[in-house]
Amino acid sequence: MTGATLTLYNSLTRSLEPFAPIDPAKGVRVYSCGPTVYSDPHLGNLRAYVFTDTLSRVLRWKGYPLTHVLNITDVGHLTSDADEGEDKMEAAAKKRGMSAWDISRHYADVFRRNLRDLNIRTPDHMPLATDYIAKMIEFAKGFADANCYQLDSGLYFDSSTVPDYGKLSGGQDDAGEGRIESVEGKRHPQDFAIWRTTPPGETRQMEWDSPWGRGAPGWHLECSVMSAELLGLPFDIHTGGIDHREIHHVNEIAQNQAHCRCGDSGARVWMHNNFLVDRGGKMSKSKGGIATLDALVAKGVHPLAYRLMCLSAHYRSELEFSGENLMAALVRLRRLVLAAEKFRAAEGKGGGNAASYLERLDAAVSDDLNTPKALPVLEELLADKQLGQEARLMTLAQFDTALGLNLLDLGRADLRVRPADALVTEAEIETRLALRKDARAAKDFARSDAIRDELLGAGVEVMDGDPLGWDWKVEL
Ligand code: AMP
Ligand code: ZN
Repeated sequence: MTGATLTLYNSLTRSLEPFAPIDPAKGVRVYSCGPTVYSDPHLGNLRAYVFTDTLSRVLRWKGYPLTHVLNITDVGHLTSDADEGEDKMEAAAKKRGMSAWDISRHYADVFRRNLRDLNIRTPDHMPLATDYIAKMIEFAKGFADANCYQLDSGLYFDSSTVPDYGKLSGGQDDAGEGRIESVEGKRHPQDFAIWRTTPPGETRQMEWDSPWGRGAPGWHLECSVMSAELLGLPFDIHTGGIDHREIHHVNEIAQNQAHCRCGDSGARVWMHNNFLVDRGGKMSKSKGGIATLDALVAKGVHPLAYRLMCLSAHYRSELEFSGENLMAALVRLRRLVLAAEKFRAAEGKGGGNAASYLERLDAAVSDDLNTPKALPVLEELLADKQLGQEARLMTLAQFDTALGLNLLDLGRADLRVRPADALVTEAEIETRLALRKDARAAKDFARSDAIRDELLGAGVEVMDGDPLGWDWKVEL
């Protein structure tokens, strides 16, 4: 690889490490924990996938062949991460009067659409957990005798049978939200379900036969099995939100160690994005009233404004979601798009130094995906009047490949997203603005003000003398 050395923060060692693939012949193999598809993904979940997309873009941009797996959890994730409580899919199905299968199909589709809207590259594999049940049973059979014990409620993993259990979480045995409901007979509070047997007399919508009775797999088992199947253990990078560092990934590691009968965690680098928070704390589905990408678009915000908002913060920092932060991102996106439009069209004198922008982009993203440092370089590039036409387009294309902001194609008209509840159409707005212009030219200010107020009543603010050249905007 040429250019700067890629350095990534490994949660397992709590340090920045130069990255090198385990087996260059296999390229780089990345597994990202995917969503549990029982409701709309919220913006916090989507932050996790803007992060994995940045990782995937940067790896490819730096020339590594990549295989990226992002799973869809359509069974097994319980209402608590510690594998206790109800299955989220079954609970949602019961609440909505729909089948668990329909629920998962519906929300997996919403998720895929959200990825497209955020210009997230489609991963190479997006496996459904329910397609891997037989493999999960085989995998668990390999260590059931040595590492597990059976209770009436299922097969449990004995966390004391592997070395360094909990190393990833930094030794904290988080007794927080995960441990609310304890299972009778568990040997240690950290022990977790590999297989959850359906209680006698009950039927689950999603259940399968297994050596441990009819039931469903534990959530942690899914990811070990899908990553082993599609990438092979050990693979290069495993990602997830920072909550997964405490329980889910700790348990995946324990399973991987039991599987290989060795101390290996199953992945060389474990990476975690920090939370999107709002004033009330971490954004989560269970809190209700959460923000979705569709809700932003319905308000007239272009989805890439949210992508830009994510890129404006380092993935390991908390990011606050607020109307102000979102508006700031939208304004920044508008500036970028306007500047890119001019930049693409300009002739340029043919001088300038395109390489220096690419070097600085490389230095920023190679420094543990430091996108906030890359964005000002992009802004500087767009203001460069020296670069010749060919160098401009080539350099901008490189920034698009690495950052996914699509500035080679987006035009100002694309940013006009019509709010779902808009009272007037864009054509009507334009007609009225033309009438207002005529009124002002004729010095009929009363009429011009009346048109402005009328538009305001319809939620449209007229912007005279806007430095970005926007004639109007929709009130959020
Ligand atoms: P889930 O659908 O709950 O399994 O979550 C999907 C992904 O989103 C996981 O990687 C979570 O760690 C991540 N996640 C959940 N909440 C947030 C949040 N508020 N901010 C960032 N990532 C989150
Ligand atoms: Zn997972």
